[in-house]
Amino acid sequence: MEKILVSACLLGRPVRYNGSAKPLEHPALERWRQEGRVVAICPELTAGFSVPRPPAEIAAGKDGQAVLAGSARVFEQTGGDVTGLFVAGAQAALALARQHDCRFALLIDGSPSCGSGFIHDGSFSGQKHAGAGVTAALLREHGIEVFSDRDIEMLDQRLTRKS
Ligand code: SF4
Repeated sequence: MEKILVSACLLGRPVRYNGSAKPLEHPALERWRQEGRVVAICPELTAGFSVPRPPAEIAAGKDGQAVLAGSARVFEQTGGDVTGLFVAGAQAALALARQHDCRFALLIDGSPSCGSGFIHDGSFSGQKHAGAGVTAALLREHGIEVFSDRDIEMLDQRLTRKS
């Protein structure tokens, strides 16, 4: 049975920068949990960040792919360059996915790590643009299909077609 890599904050763990969670209540997620298919990851905590931590964004309207290519940086709102830690978190997520043979991930959108459809533009003003965070980009580069929390039903259908 396919295992699914899932953002820890979607599972109710209070690991976001501000100490909150964003639990996703959906029958498919509950079913996957009961079936033992959920592999939880918080790339940022795994990389060594603490809770709470300053918010961070990928600078200059760029995206996770550009960070991985070395042409974009991730900064905390307080000015710290945390690019290396974001890449380390993405690599840890990929390693965990491989360890569990996950070919699918359900990640929360909007995060500079887990975002897959949109991210913030680096101005810390709430402006968003299309693009993926560092972890979502690295997983996709390695053939893992990444779905956002809004697309859980699409993922459920995708998994049904496979079984
Ligand atoms: Fe949630 Fe991902 Fe941010 Fe961790 S890195 S708090 S799992 S969005």
